[in-house]
Amino acid sequence: NEFNIMITADAKPILIDFPQMEQRPIPTIKDHEVLLQMDSVGICGSDVHYLTKGRIGDFILTKPMIIGHEAAGIVAKVGKNVKNLKVGDRVAIEPGVPCRICDLCKNGRYNLCAEMVFCATPPYDGNLTRYYAHAADFCYKLPDHVTMEEGALLEPMSVGVHACRRAGVGLGSSVLILGAGPIGLVTLLTAKSMGASNIIITDILADRLAVAKELGANHTLLIEKDRSEKDNVRLVHELLGEMPDKTIDCSGAESTSRLAILATRSGGVVVLVGMGAPEPKLPIVDGLIREVDIRGVFRYCNDYPAALALVSSGSVNVKKLITHHFDIKETADAFNTARYGLGGAIKVMIHCTPRDSNN
Ligand code: NAD
Ligand code: ZN
Repeated sequence: NEFNIMITADAKPILIDFPQMEQRPIPTIKDHEVLLQMDSVGICGSDVHYLTKGRIGDFILTKPMIIGHEAAGIVAKVGKNVKNLKVGDRVAIEPGVPCRICDLCKNGRYNLCAEMVFCATPPYDGNLTRYYAHAADFCYKLPDHVTMEEGALLEPMSVGVHACRRAGVGLGSSVLILGAGPIGLVTLLTAKSMGASNIIITDILADRLAVAKELGANHTLLIEKDRSEKDNVRLVHELLGEMPDKTIDCSGAESTSRLAILATRSGGVVVLVGMGAPEPKLPIVDGLIREVDIRGVFRYCNDYPAALALVSSGSVNVKKLITHHFDIKETADAFNTARYGLGGAIKVMIHCTPRDSNN
C-alpha cells in the first residue's frame, strides 16, 4: 500500500500509520528567531506527495518528517536580537530561509540558494506542529483584519505573485493560465490585480473552472480527452479573442506545457510553474522561431510583502479557495480530503489551535 510507505535511511521502505501524531519537545530558539504558536496550516500537493511517495525528485525522505509549510502562527517568544516582532504578533511564515551569504542570496535570488532550509523539504521538518521556531525576518506581521488562514494562504499566493512577475504581467496583458488548482487560481487573482485585462484558464475539471469563473476569469476552457492539440490552441485563441502574450502553466502535465508554448503569441512569455515529468517532450522549435521566452519558477523571492498587500488591501479575496477546515487531531481526514479532492476540496486548512475568531 503506497499510501503508508516511508523510505528509511537505507532505502528499505517501512510501513507507518499515516499520518502519525508525535510528541516532541517545544523547540528552543536562536537569537534571531521567534517561537511561534502555530495556528493555521494549509495542505499543499507536495505534503501529500511526500506522505504517499516518500520523495519529490531528488528530495528523498530518509527519516520521518514533520509536514506542512503553508502556515501562520502567533509569536510566543522572541530571540534576543529580534527587533521586528513582539510576543502576541500574528504572522505569516515564509517557509524557506536561505544562507544569506552566497552569490545568489546577495544577487537577490535567494529562492535559488543551494543552502536553503525549507519547511517540510527533506531533511528539514515542516510546521504542522503546535510550536515551531523560525527566523524572525521571514515572518510577516499580519494586520488585525487579515485572518490567520489568509496568512497561511500567502504561501501559495506568493508563488502566484512570483509567476506573474516572472511573466511580466501588467496593465492590459492577455493571459493564459493552464490548471485551475490552488496555484492556478491564486495566479488568476494576482494577474487580475496586476492589471491583466483578458484571462483564460483551463482545466480538465469543470467544477474548478466554475470557481475560476467566480474569481473573475474572463474565459474558461474545459480540456477534453479526445480533442486534438490543434483544436485546443484554436479554442484558446477563439475564446480569448486574441493570442495570449503571457502564459503560465500551473499544471505541469506534458500536454499543458506543450499547449503553453504553442498557444502563446510570437514574442510572448511562457512561465512554467507546474512540475510534472522531469523531461517532457516539448515543441521547442515552434517556440524558438517565434521567440517565445520560456521561464522557470521556483517558489518565490521577495514576494511575500506583495502577496500580503494584495490580501490586506482587499485587492484579492482568497477566502473562497479555503473549502475545508480540520483540527490538528483530524490530520488524517484532512489529508484524505486533500489527496482525493473530496467534497470539491481546493485548499484544506488544518488548525493547530482552535479556529481564530476572525476567520
Ligand atoms: P493541483 O494538482 O491542485 O492543480 C493542478 C490542476 O491542473 C488541477 O486542477 C488539474 O485538474 C489540472 N490539470 C491536470 N491536467 C490538466 C490539463 N491537461 N489541462 C488543464 N488542466 C489540467 O496542484 P496545485 O497545488 O495547484 O499546484 C500546481 C502545480 O504547481 C503542481 O505541479 C505543483 O507541484 C506545482 N508547484 C510548483 C511550484 C514551484 O515553485 N514551481 C510551487 C508550488 C506548486
Ligand atoms: Zn544563499
